[in-house]
Amino acid sequence: MARSATPSNHTANAMRLLQLELDAPTDDTLDRAARTITSDGKATRCRTVTTALRHLNAAGAAFDLALICGDDAQALLGAYSALAASGRLPPTLVLSATASVDTAVSLLKAGADDFIVRDAAGHWAERLTDEAAALQTRRRALSERAQLDAELRESERRLAQIVDGSSVAMFVIDQQHRVTHWNRACEAMTGIAAEDVIGTSEQWRAFYAKKRPCMADLVLDGAIESRFNRYYGDKDYRRSTLIPGSYEAEDFFPNFGDCGRWLFFTAAPLHDSHGNVVGAIETLQDVTAQKRAEVALGERETLLRQIIQCSSVATFVIDREHRITHWNRAAEILLGRSADSAIGARDLAHEVYRRDRPVLADLVLDGAGDEEIARYYDGRYRRSATIDGAFEVEDFFPDLDGGPRWLHFAAALLHDEQGRTIGAIETLLDISERKRAEERIQESERRLAQIIDGSAVAAFVVDQTHRVTHWNRACAALTGVPASEVIGTRQQWRAFYPAERPCLADLVVDGAVEEKLSRYYLNKQFHRSQIVEGGYEAQDFFANFGNSGRWLYFTAAPLRNAQGEIVGAIETLQDITEQKRAEENLRQSEERYRVLSITDGMTGLYNARHFAQRLREEMDRCQRYQHPLALMLMDIDNFKQFNDRYGHVEGDQVLIRLAECITACLRRTDQAFRYGGEEFVVLLPETEMGEAIAAAERVRAMFAGSEIRPGDGSTVCCTASIGVTTFVAGETPRDFVARADSGTYEAKRRGKNRVIRIVPGMGNIVD
Ligand code: GH3
Ligand code: MG
Ligand code: MG
Repeated sequence: MARSATPSNHTANAMRLLQLELDAPTDDTLDRAARTITSDGKATRCRTVTTALRHLNAAGAAFDLALICGDDAQALLGAYSALAASGRLPPTLVLSATASVDTAVSLLKAGADDFIVRDAAGHWAERLTDEAAALQTRRRALSERAQLDAELRESERRLAQIVDGSSVAMFVIDQQHRVTHWNRACEAMTGIAAEDVIGTSEQWRAFYAKKRPCMADLVLDGAIESRFNRYYGDKDYRRSTLIPGSYEAEDFFPNFGDCGRWLFFTAAPLHDSHGNVVGAIETLQDVTAQKRAEVALGERETLLRQIIQCSSVATFVIDREHRITHWNRAAEILLGRSADSAIGARDLAHEVYRRDRPVLADLVLDGAGDEEIARYYDGRYRRSATIDGAFEVEDFFPDLDGGPRWLHFAAALLHDEQGRTIGAIETLLDISERKRAEERIQESERRLAQIIDGSAVAAFVVDQTHRVTHWNRACAALTGVPASEVIGTRQQWRAFYPAERPCLADLVVDGAVEEKLSRYYLNKQFHRSQIVEGGYEAQDFFANFGNSGRWLYFTAAPLRNAQGEIVGAIETLQDITEQKRAEENLRQSEERYRVLSITDGMTGLYNARHFAQRLREEMDRCQRYQHPLALMLMDIDNFKQFNDRYGHVEGDQVLIRLAECITACLRRTDQAFRYGGEEFVVLLPETEMGEAIAAAERVRAMFAGSEIRPGDGSTVCCTASIGVTTFVAGETPRDFVARADSGTYEAKRRGKNRVIRIVPGMGNIVD
């Protein structure tokens, strides 16, 4: 401890004496004694209290001793009190001629250091000097003690300030393990207020559930290793290299904070000036964040190692100096080099390229750009789509230990927490099998494309996503849409339809839901393919194709993968326009033939064979719906005569004329037939007797009124006899016709050129 200098700047024994002589001795003994007392020092003499006070209060005045001489007890006491009141009075000896005990007691009580009685023999002078020397010694000791106390207080204050002002949590214990300091940071960390712990030995409560020594306690007790081991054996404790006798350790305190905190704590002994341990100070630092980062880093490194080691993908890592730091089992197998020999090496290129050059990881680590990468991997590399600054390469290696191989390899940078590059990682995949498969696929694709393209049948192929993958030349020729315009798009519909809609192939790709098929192909004669499962066929007329539209017959069949899943569809299109036209012609000729076969060539009415068929149909219909049906049967009167007279050719004209009259007088739904040579029948559906009679009358009148010019210049009128009847449910065609015939017969009998009705069930004749 530094000691300040003594207050006096005189030699050790020199003293500054204030001498107040209220009544001085008559001889010079006092002067001599004063000189002895002051040694080389100085005596300031005065006769009045006022002067003495002025000396005491003077600036820089520092007296070591005061001497008050007087014979009057009251005056002495008054003077002493007045000087003492100044607060600046040094130790004081009172010298008096009177030996009053009362005066002595009063002065000593007031604070005077001694009271010496002057005797005649002068013994007092000796005593005075001895007393002054003793006073001086005592005073020095006192002053040193005060100095020490002040220094101690100052140092304590400083310590308290240091401890309390520190942002590091700390506490101090004394020799008795009592807490003397517990700073604010410690309060904040432990949640325990200083006032609750200072003066106690309960510091353990802040950290532990059960009573046990803290590290400061162990340090205070002399830090025996075995005790340290017991309490901190698993806490990674160690002696501090900075302060002798101090220790540091780390521990996890689960009760601190939300989910526990990691603390780094140190404890150092506090010594007194003699080197004795008088206490200990413990500091505590929250290192949770750092610890967690370390743990995470450690875990990540472990994880990285495991990932790399366990990965079936060959993987290696190089550090910033391009040295291999990780080399996994898969890499050992693929590249035929053991991890032992690879780790630490920088000559990897020899392994794969048989020459000195960088590998991809080296290039990536060096921050190579496209130009640099292209120098080594032109046309075989691409930037990683997912990782910045990473590259991927596919390359063929003819000289690998395990034989020629296709490898896919990718390299990316590795960064630390702060984002600094710490190396690069490269993964290598043997893709030889995939490459061979790809080549086989490409080959088969080429063949397929050739087959499709070479086919004379228009065809196109769509994939699972309805994109066109093939569009052959025949298809381009048929649709007028070149392959280049449609391949890769979903625009196949444009070739066929004015608005967007699925093609047959699209429906087949979607699983050919019948409901959808019917929606788009209902009238297109669509049907399931007899040949291909899941395939469909349909035909349609495409008005925009060719000059006057084309008929297309189109089939769509699913394309399946090895698992049988639909991965696309092929649609073929055949122009069946010619076939369709031929069919149409045939149909028309058949129709013509059919019409001919039921038509009477001369009159244009239906013939008798057709009458037989129609009669049955109409009778069935009437019977089913209980509708009326009438029938008229007519015969030309005296036709034989006409023929005989004008010839058959003219006779035919009469037949034609009657047919015209019948056609003119009947409704659209009525049907007329040439029943025999010059006999006609008419079927009148939905017709009651009355209407039928009226119609028959119209025919009769019209025919009778029309003039026929047989060519010899004459004009002739012909007539016909008509029998009319209505159908009776259940009767036979024969009965029905016979009844009408009987009407005709009756008309002839009654004179011809008339209409006779035969009402069923009322006998033969009515009119
Ligand atoms: P009626 O008044 O009693 O009927 O006397 P009709 O002379 O008409 O007697 P009928 O009906 O028996 O005579 C039928 C004649 O019709 C016989 C035949 O010469 C004539 N005929 C039949 N078919 C044709 C034909 O296709 N063309 C011509 N020109 N005459 C025919
Ligand atoms: Mg006849
Ligand atoms: Mg006739």
